[in-house]
Amino acid sequence: MNLTVLVELTYLLSAILFVVGLKRLQSPATARAGNALAALAMLLAIIATMVDAEILSWTGILIGMAIGGVIGGIAARTVEMTSMPQLVGIFNGFGGGASALVAVAEFLSNPAIGAGTPGVTMLLGTLIGGVTFSGSFIAFAKLQELMTGNPITFPGQNGFNLVLLVVGLVIGATTLGAFGFLEPLTAFYIFCGISLLLGVLLVIPIGGADMPVVISLLNSYSGLAASAAGFVIGNMVLIISGALVGAAGLILTMLMCKGMNRSLANVAFGGFGGSAGVDRSQIGQRPVRKADPEAVAAELGYVNSVVIVPGYGMAVAQAQHELRKVGDLLEGRGVDVKYAIHPVAGRMPGHMNVLLAEADVSYDKLFDLDEINDDFGNTDAVLVVGANDVVNPAARDPGSVIAGMPILDVDRARRVIVMKRSLSPGFAGIDNDLFYMDNTLMFFGDAKESMADLVREVRELS
Ligand code: NDP
Repeated sequence: MNLTVLVELTYLLSAILFVVGLKRLQSPATARAGNALAALAMLLAIIATMVDAEILSWTGILIGMAIGGVIGGIAARTVEMTSMPQLVGIFNGFGGGASALVAVAEFLSNPAIGAGTPGVTMLLGTLIGGVTFSGSFIAFAKLQELMTGNPITFPGQNGFNLVLLVVGLVIGATTLGAFGFLEPLTAFYIFCGISLLLGVLLVIPIGGADMPVVISLLNSYSGLAASAAGFVIGNMVLIISGALVGAAGLILTMLMCKGMNRSLANVAFGGFGGSAGVDRSQIGQRPVRKADPEAVAAELGYVNSVVIVPGYGMAVAQAQHELRKVGDLLEGRGVDVKYAIHPVAGRMPGHMNVLLAEADVSYDKLFDLDEINDDFGNTDAVLVVGANDVVNPAARDPGSVIAGMPILDVDRARRVIVMKRSLSPGFAGIDNDLFYMDNTLMFFGDAKESMADLVREVRELS
């Protein structure tokens, strides 16, 4: 078998592995294997490309794998679970940047590329890759709190962005030889600058609370940029894998918009998702009913059904193992225990699922918002652990910053126990009426320590 056939077969195998890997990501039980398959597919594709194009010797490939493996291993082990969205944001940015660089290199090696398919895809790769690169770094800076998480807006912003896009497209066409009012290389550099600027301008008006949706959208863009780069260099596996990432990212984006009851256009152009203008001076000023671990255990000692609602605070405190012990002990006492998972609880899609899976909570005890919301009215007690925005009844108020965001209707349960350190707001920066309701008990403390205390107290119940 000659080398070309072997390379094509390897590409085919890796495309199949990408599809199977993606399919396996659909369930937590098979996701780990799915991820490994997709990573193997990428490794095969990279090796095949390097061998085919004689880009590197085997020694070079092995050195590259070792360096990449060490960086990936360190990142996976050291990056906090709570910083995952930022990490994903940066990875998206690098992916988009890499695709843009492929397109740029293609143009610089052939400035007379012309207005055919290679020229148009080169422009698309540069545009989408550039937007992804700069947009992802703005998303990173917002999530890392290196800049304000509030929307940055100015009058006529959407119109300005549209004009900038049209100007960019005209200059891009000039790059390919149309119009001719600029020298192609000069036009190309301006086109690159406009692409980067567009990425910044598209992400700054989006508030921090919408960042998960933006990161998912940028993930989709990074796939489209890779696909365009695949067309530019005629690499089939890059086209296929880029299209898969683009489609998967878009589907996740749409699902998240549905989870927040918002349209994608509203997320992208609504300037929503920050707490600028909210009066914070009144937050946490009203009286609440407090309970210590003993009182909480006593409450839980007389119930038949409990729904546990984890949130970002559980992730920060790494309280999932203690929380599972509470759930197990209650089940041992004959209580019906369920875990309610909000689609944007924590700081990344699936955040709670990952942590609860790590603590060996069985998947059949986890319920999505749609599955469980009708049950709260018949639930004896809800234990909210480090969640805030996702249980904030303010979402039902049309004037609220989080208006329209679907919430877990925990306030409809007979008893609500909210476990957090203080009355401080959550990510959206607004007060939560749930804390002050008659059926709510505030159980203050760090989630891990408080759950450990609760485990002890529940064990002591007769
Ligand atoms: P929130 O951010 O609304 O609230 C988390 C709460 O946890 C805080 O109010 C905090 O209160 C408490 N907390 C923090 N540390 C601890 C600790 N050690 N022990 C106990 N409690 C602690 O979290 P939710 O999960 O309810 O909502 C997620 C929010 O994040 C939503 O607004 C969502 O839009 C946004 N978001 C979601 C992403 C995703 O993909 N899931 C990504 C980015 C943003 P206190 O300080 O009083 O302890």
